[in-house]
Amino acid sequence: RALVVMKDVSKVFSSGTVALTGMSLTVNGGEFVSLLGPSGCGKSTALRIIAGLGDTTTGTIDWPSSRINAKGLPEGDISFVFQEPTLMPWATVFGNVYLPLKLRGVSKHAAYDDIMAALTRVGLKDFVDAYPRELSGGMKMRVSIARALVTKPKLLLMDEPFAALDEITRQKLNDDVLRLWKETGITVIFVTHSVFESAYLSNRIVVMKARPGRVHADFPLITSLERD
Ligand code: ADP
Ligand code: ADP
Repeated sequence: RALVVMKDVSKVFSSGTVALTGMSLTVNGGEFVSLLGPSGCGKSTALRIIAGLGDTTTGTIDWPSSRINAKGLPEGDISFVFQEPTLMPWATVFGNVYLPLKLRGVSKHAAYDDIMAALTRVGLKDFVDAYPRELSGGMKMRVSIARALVTKPKLLLMDEPFAALDEITRQKLNDDVLRLWKETGITVIFVTHSVFESAYLSNRIVVMKARPGRVHADFPLITSLERD
């Protein structure tokens, strides 16, 4: 069951930079895909297009399993985690995780169980009332993951999410993401330039090359990475 079908996509920015040419990629439900490649090869551009956050210059992007809104974009199935957690400093952990549901018109009362479930998943249920300034970098990132999960997306997109964290925190968070993937039915696309990370995390590695950005190799990993 395909969640994302990218066909022959190119992306040329107004600056003239050709970020992608002839990029095709199909991601099926349940996969954990690493998008691996050197800086500047177009990983973020591809991920933004997959999220519906950026348009293509030529080629097509489809989300065959999603409800499509009037703008032709998928409604509600996709969450994005960026390298910067971008939490609202004036809101508590609870308020930050509530935000995506608030934007959908869900009351705090109705959202409560989902918020607590998302925070429990990332090990932060005891920190609901804390403010972002009271949290470490790793904890802020966990809040950001909880915020992405609270809408119960089918597809979680992560753009070098832990690159700014120290090695130990990063490894802990990698384990958390792996556990999350194993325990839920979620599909993950994880952008990284770390060969180690891609081998550790995913069950499929899509290697991109630069100038012009496109898929260079695409292979399944035979590892112990299987859902129970
Ligand atoms: P990666 O995520 O692999 O580092 P990006 O997708 O961020 O690569 O960038 C691909 C290329 O497109 C780079 O040369 C980058 O400088 C360029 N680029 C990215 N975003 C923009 C933009 N908004 N305007 C112009 N050029 C951009
Ligand atoms: P990390 O980024 O992995 O959370 P830290 O060294 O900042 O690394 O924190 C280590 C652990 O200490 C955290 O995972 C958390 O369990 C706990 N911790 C961090 N900040 C606080 C805090 N403000 N209050 C209580 N416990 C905290």
